Amino acid sequence: MSILPPDLFFPFRDYNGNMQAILKLLGKTDIKELALPANIRYGQAIYKRGGVEVIEQTAKYIEGWAGGLNGTSAEGGGQKRRVRLSVTAKGLGWHCAGNPKNHDIFCKHCVALALFIQTQ
Ligand SMILES: [Zn+2]
Repeated sequence: MSILPPDLFFPFRDYNGNMQAILKLLGKTDIKELALPANIRYGQAIYKRGGVEVIEQTAKYIEGWAGGLNGTSAEGGGQKRRVRLSVTAKGLGWHCAGNPKNHDIFCKHCVALALFIQTQ
């Protein structure tokens, strides 16, 4: 089990007064190491077409909607799914409501939300 750098246990606040350990962790995360190339492409398409909406953000997690666009998968099309990215003891955690139980891959919805956050 990996241990997070100590600073991640002490979320800092931005100028709005929001704590954002999750933002810091995502900033250090290389999506290419988590997702399959196809899901990276599809997730990029969702993000670029504006198919991401943040529902809730705390210091430890960000939850949002991703998808719900028309067209093919390559164009970013597909169903809208609820995604959560979180700070865990092992690093970045993720969950997409569209993934089968016990098979929580870093899917295109996770990619889209992560890209959205990383570019804020
Ligand atoms: Zn998904």
